[in-house]
Amino acid sequence: MRALLRWYSDMGIDTVTGDEPADFSESQATEGDNARGQKRDLAQPGPNRPPSHAGQMQGSAQSLPKTTAARPNTGVLRPQADMLSADEAVNLAKELAAKAQDLTGLEAALRGFEGCPLKKGARNTVFADGTPGAPLLVMGEAPGRDEDREGVPFIGKAGLLLDKMLGAIGHDRTKNAYISNVIYWRPPGNRTPTDEEMMMCHPFAERLIELAQPKVILIAGAAPLKALLHKSGIMKSRGKWHTLRCANGTNYDVMPTFHPAYLLRNPQAKRQVWQDLQAVREKLREN
Ligand code: URA
Repeated sequence: MRALLRWYSDMGIDTVTGDEPADFSESQATEGDNARGQKRDLAQPGPNRPPSHAGQMQGSAQSLPKTTAARPNTGVLRPQADMLSADEAVNLAKELAAKAQDLTGLEAALRGFEGCPLKKGARNTVFADGTPGAPLLVMGEAPGRDEDREGVPFIGKAGLLLDKMLGAIGHDRTKNAYISNVIYWRPPGNRTPTDEEMMMCHPFAERLIELAQPKVILIAGAAPLKALLHKSGIMKSRGKWHTLRCANGTNYDVMPTFHPAYLLRNPQAKRQVWQDLQAVREKLREN
């Protein structure tokens, strides 16, 4: 029984929703988006919706749900999706992201995107938080359990530490920092996102950067380093300035540093992160 419970937990099944088991695999219910400013439709499955798609979450990217057009997440039941290949999903993501003319449009396009299998297992699409257009943009990895529940990035323990780190250089998501991730749906059991999942989300992450136009990007951890700069090895890359060239030709100064979750486990690394943050503060002053 303990092993079964551990397996459930690893799969992201961490909420008891009723006394009787129910087969929700027949249900085609949409996710219950609960991002700030969005009202949840009470007739729809809410945050306590049984995580019924755990089996499907493991599905390969070769068999993804297909949409024929951007479909804003209206909270109504969606028809059964057809199948998209991983390449088709990436192409659709590129097409949808490129069409977005502002961050609101990009968020709507992302919410209508059905190409990434992670979405099936998530409660919420986690787009961004903070101040759009702020000079500092933080790019993290993927929502965790708290973020998935609330639809807001970096609100768990790692998020609290991130807020403290930003505060140390005079930044605050409510005033002068914008925060997002390179993956918009919680991977089951908080596992590392696959390369395919990163590729499917990448067009949205890059377009978010183009539209938010930050002066400096702080990359938190190895996954956004890989997704945005195509580099592996956060140890080697942190503490140095990198240039991100977006599809529209704009360049951005990027500072990779350790993820706050890593810092929670390795507090001795705070010294290095403090150096990275000071470099960010200097660069923002120069700009
Ligand atoms: N870790 C991340 O990388 N992003 C979040 O939103 C939360 C935790």
